[in-house]
Parts: sequence; structure tokens; C-alpha cells
Amino acid sequence: MLEDVIVDCPSCGEPCALSVDTSAGPEQSYFEDCPTCCAPMEVFVKSKPGEILSISVTAD
Ligand SMILES: [Zn+2]
Repeated sequence: MLEDVIVDCPSCGEPCALSVDTSAGPEQSYFEDCPTCCAPMEVFVKSKPGEILSISVTAD
């Protein structure tokens, strides 16, 4: 189950859309590349199926 969420890139500050698989577990962390500046960011997600409870991103 994918949920779309907008986060601000920690490197360039531009908003970018992430698709989070909320069925993948209550806590996840993974890397995404910013579509604007291509910098990797680490994404931390807490979720329950169908709902994102919290999300944060940090620069690698
Ligand atoms: Zn960026």
C-alpha cells in the first residue's frame, strides 16, 4: 500500500514527493535520491497500514 508524502530535501530544500510503502512495517529507513539535486537522503518512516504517522529525512 503506497502513500504519497511531500518532504523537503535536506540538501537543497526543495519539496519532493516520496511514495512510502506503509505495509512494509511500522518503522522503516531507506535511502532516496532527491529528484532535484540528486543528493541521497535517508528517510525514516513510522507508519501503520494506509497511514504515515511520522516521516523525517536527513542528509547522508
Ligand atoms: Zn535536493
